[in-house]
Amino acid sequence: MATNEDLFKKIISHSKEYGFVFPSSEIYDGLSAVYDYGPFGVELKNNIKAWWWKSMVQYHENIVGLDSAIFMHPTIWKASGHVDAFNDPMIDNKDSKKRYRADVLVEDHLQKIEDKIQKEVDKARTRFGETFDEQMYRTTNPRVKEYQDKIDALKTRFYASLEKNDLADVKALIEEAGIVCPVSGTKNWTEVRQFNLMFSTQMGSVNEDANEIFLRPETAQGVFVNFLNVQKSARMKIPFGIAQIGKAFRNEIVARQFLFRMREFEQMEMQYFVKPGEELEWFAYWKQERMRWHTSLGIPASKYRFHDHDKLAHYANAATDIEFEFPIGFKELEGIHSRTDFDLSAHQKFSGRKIQYFDTELNEGYVPYVVETSIGLDRTFLAVVSYAYREEKLEDGSERVVLSLPAILAPVKVAILPLIKKDGLPEKAREIMDVLKYRFRCFYEEKDTIGRRYRRMDAIGTPYCITIDHQTLQDNTVTLRDRDTMLQERIPVNEILAILNEKLSL
Ligand code: ATP
Repeated sequence: MATNEDLFKKIISHSKEYGFVFPSSEIYDGLSAVYDYGPFGVELKNNIKAWWWKSMVQYHENIVGLDSAIFMHPTIWKASGHVDAFNDPMIDNKDSKKRYRADVLVEDHLQKIEDKIQKEVDKARTRFGETFDEQMYRTTNPRVKEYQDKIDALKTRFYASLEKNDLADVKALIEEAGIVCPVSGTKNWTEVRQFNLMFSTQMGSVNEDANEIFLRPETAQGVFVNFLNVQKSARMKIPFGIAQIGKAFRNEIVARQFLFRMREFEQMEMQYFVKPGEELEWFAYWKQERMRWHTSLGIPASKYRFHDHDKLAHYANAATDIEFEFPIGFKELEGIHSRTDFDLSAHQKFSGRKIQYFDTELNEGYVPYVVETSIGLDRTFLAVVSYAYREEKLEDGSERVVLSLPAILAPVKVAILPLIKKDGLPEKAREIMDVLKYRFRCFYEEKDTIGRRYRRMDAIGTPYCITIDHQTLQDNTVTLRDRDTMLQERIPVNEILAILNEKLSL
C-alpha cells in the first residue's frame, strides 16, 4: 500500500502555518492527540458540518436533528455495553517500549499479505493481457491460494480469540505469525491486556455523594435515550432518522496520527429507525447514499472503498466502513452499522421504561431496528485537506502550494485585493467588500505584492480572488482569478455577485 509519510508531514506543517490546525496547549509542549482548529480550520470544519447537515437533515424530509449533552446518566454506558466491552486489546514491545493495539498489528500484517496477493494479480494481468480472468486466477494460482489460506486461517483464529477474550492466544498468534515491532524489529512482546477507552470524571461536589460519570465515547447514545422525545415531539413515522453532530472522547491507546486518531474529536452521526426485518435493505441503501455524499464533493471515487467487517461489534448484524486513501494509506473514514434493536432494548431494560414505536398501519408496537451512519468530522477534514494539497511547479519556474478544496468547503470563498494601497483603489475595494461580505466569507487584504497575496490565498484554498486596479476606476470592471487554473477574466463590478453565486454553488 502506498503511504506517503513525507506528504503527511507536509500537510501537518501546512495546517499549522496557515492557521488550520494547531497542537493543543502548544506553549506547554502540547497534549497528546488533542488539537485546536485555527481561523481557517474552524471555517473549513464548519463548512463540512453545514454540508453534512444540509445533506442529511434538510434534503431528507424524514430526518430531524438533535443536540444532546455530553454528560449523561452513567447507567447509559452500562446499558450500551461500553463499561464492559468498549476495550481495545493493547500490547507493548519490551525493547522499543512502544505500545500497540493488538488488533491493529494483526490487521496490518494481514494487509501486507493482501498486498502480496495484489502484486501477483497485477503481474499476471500484465502477463495475460486481455484474456486475464482475475477471479479464476485468485482461486487457482497456488501461491495466491497459499496466501489467501494464511489470511483466512489467521482471521478465523484471531476473531474467535477476541470473541472469547482469550488474550493469551492473541499474543501467541502475534508471535507465531512472526509480527515484529516496526520500531525495534523484535518479537519481544508483553502480555495482551484489555484497556477501556472511556474517560471518566466526577459529577457534583467530590466530598459529597460523588458520582462517576463518563465523557461520551460516541454521540449515538444521546439519540437512543431521546428516541421517544424526538419521535413524539416531531411526529415522526418510521422509517425516520435522527442526526447529531458533537464531540466524543476516547482514551486511544495509540494516538500519533494527527487528526486521524484523536482523544477528543467530533462525530456526525445519523441513526435511522426502521421496521424490524427491513434493516438490511436500509443498510444497503445508506451504504450507497453515504458513498454518493463523499463523491459529491468532487473527490474521485477511486479514493474511497468499502471495507465490510468480518468481526461485528456486540450490537451489529452488518457493518461496513467507507475507507479513504489518506497519505497513511486506506483507512476508515465512516462506519455504517446495522445496530439491530440492541440499544433501544437495552435502555428499555435498564431504565424500566417502555421504548416502543406504535405502528398505526400494523396496529402494533415494536422496538425499532437501527441503521447508523457515523462519520468523523476531523477525519473528513483530514481527508479533504490531504486530497486538496498540491505542490505545483509553474511555467515561470516558481512553485506554489495550493489547496484545491471543493469551493463549498473552502474557508474563504473570495479575496478582495486592491492592486496597490493608494490612488483610491482600497476605497473602491472596500465598497465591493461591503457588498460581498454579507453573502460570502470574504477576506480583504492590501499588504504585500499581488503575487504574494495570491499565493497566500492559494495556500488556504480560496477559490476566487478579485483584484481592483486602475482600470476598475475607469470602467467599473475587476479581474476575477481562478485558484486552480490561475486564469483571470475581467468582469463588471455589478455582475460579481451573480457570477460568484453561480461558480460557488455545488
Ligand atoms: P477505528 O477502528 O479507526 O478506531 P472505530 O471503528 O472505533 O474507528 P467508530 O466507533 O465506528 O470508529 O466511530 C465512527 C467514526 O468516528 C469513525 O469512522 C471515525 O471517522 C471517527 N473516529 C473514531 N475514533 C476516532 C478518533 N480517535 N479520532 C478521530 N476520529 C475518530
